[in-house]
Amino acid sequence: MKKLISVALVLAMSLSLAACGSSGNPEGTATKGVLVMATNAEFPPYEYHDGDSIVGIDAEIAEAIAKKMGCELRIEDIAFDSIIPEVSSGKADIGLAGMTVTEDRKQSVDFSESYATSSQVVIVPENSGISSLSDLGADSIVGVQTGTTGDIYCSDDDSIGTVERYNKGMEAVQALTQGKIDAVVIDSEPAKVFVSENPGLMVLKENYTNEEYAAAIRKGNTVLLDNVNKALEELKADGTLDKIVAKYIAAE
Ligand code: GLN
Repeated sequence: MKKLISVALVLAMSLSLAACGSSGNPEGTATKGVLVMATNAEFPPYEYHDGDSIVGIDAEIAEAIAKKMGCELRIEDIAFDSIIPEVSSGKADIGLAGMTVTEDRKQSVDFSESYATSSQVVIVPENSGISSLSDLGADSIVGVQTGTTGDIYCSDDDSIGTVERYNKGMEAVQALTQGKIDAVVIDSEPAKVFVSENPGLMVLKENYTNEEYAAAIRKGNTVLLDNVNKALEELKADGTLDKIVAKYIAAE
């Protein structure tokens, strides 16, 4: 009997060891039981400050993923262009920031399955007579948030005169209301929020690009990647994801 128990114990121990991931725990997070999310909380409705807390679609998705993994969620609010370095160096476990999947970024991090589609849109003053970015002309100034896909694509666009970079999307929008720049290129949902808060602006009908959002995870951390993908799949299947989105984005 004693022998049987010790065999069972050894078996149980080796099984639990086998369940441990590359980062030393089954969650694949740097610290056991904690999921650290890096974000830039200047991006409503995905992440923004509400009093002392950071709320929004990504914050709630991360909370739901953490819960499924049996982890406590910790959110780090940092500059958007610091998110990928924090994730690839292991300081944060996931980057969740309305982050677009691009081939370039895939060189530095792995991406989860996509959880949302998006697009870059163009904000201009009402009655500007501009109906597409190409109307802007060679001496135009277009505002973007540093390091975003809006920045990357506008910087490559020969039809744009100058690209002016701002730390926050909202700062670019303010420059537009002050007449300092001619247009802002930014993601569609934040664009709607910023336009609703700043009278006299409008979003052009024509999208500039179409994109997919996903969570960034340190390259090769397949344990965490699998956990996040499994959680996302369950949240999609049971309607939680739709419910979170509906809470922040009014149906059109
Ligand atoms: N989707 C854009 C990008 O990934 C902007 C994200 C953001 O500003 N938070 O570059």
